[in-house]
Amino acid sequence: MIRAFFGGTFDPVHNGHLETASALVDELDIATLSLMPSAVPPHRSQPCASARQRLEMVKLACQQHPAFTAEDWELKQDRLSYTAHTLSEFKERFPNDILLFVMGMDSLMSLHKWHNWTQLTDNAHLIVMPRAGVDFSPQDDELKSFIATHLTKHKKDLTEQSSGYVYIAQTPMVDVSATELREQLQQRKPNLPLPSSVYDYIRQHQLYL
Ligand code: ATP
Repeated sequence: MIRAFFGGTFDPVHNGHLETASALVDELDIATLSLMPSAVPPHRSQPCASARQRLEMVKLACQQHPAFTAEDWELKQDRLSYTAHTLSEFKERFPNDILLFVMGMDSLMSLHKWHNWTQLTDNAHLIVMPRAGVDFSPQDDELKSFIATHLTKHKKDLTEQSSGYVYIAQTPMVDVSATELREQLQQRKPNLPLPSSVYDYIRQHQLYL
């Protein structure tokens, strides 16, 4: 079976994650897409909500779609969460499954800064969702040649081989970012692009003030 993992800080989870992931489930006929909050994101500033709170918000958001589940694997590990390591552990956990690791275009464009990034495709396909304001134009030479080597336009490659491809999805651009959203929450703006259950949780726990 195909198992998709969508990693991120999810600080907080928002409609940019959820609407694109929902379109991806349809595009690739994915039975289970797990939203996986990272414990201590090594390559970025520290999150504002606690790990437990980010997971709770992801769990609430997952109630929106039958294919979504929350994956707490990285939060349970007593170490930094490097995706390459997590994916090799998942290959041991699910030896007979096809693993997809889902990310936005901004993540692909900075992939060469990730720990052991060239090993990511050893255990999974990388599925990349377009993101508003981010072009598909890698600047780093090593990244450029990595993408050129692994890129496919064919969905069937993702099922015929269990790992090794980079696939650019046709999911819609949803112009939402957690950074902007945190500012809007602080300013108490109404009608923000996140599920009402997540909004209620944020207010109840007085996050991002
Ligand atoms: P920040 O604004 O703090 O950078 P973010 O909105 O990018 O946060 P993350 O939790 O860091 O949210 O993102 C997790 C993953 O989701 C990343 O791979 C990111 O590229 C992707 N992603 C986030 N928002 C979108 C979006 N609107 N469309 C497509 N992908 C997205």
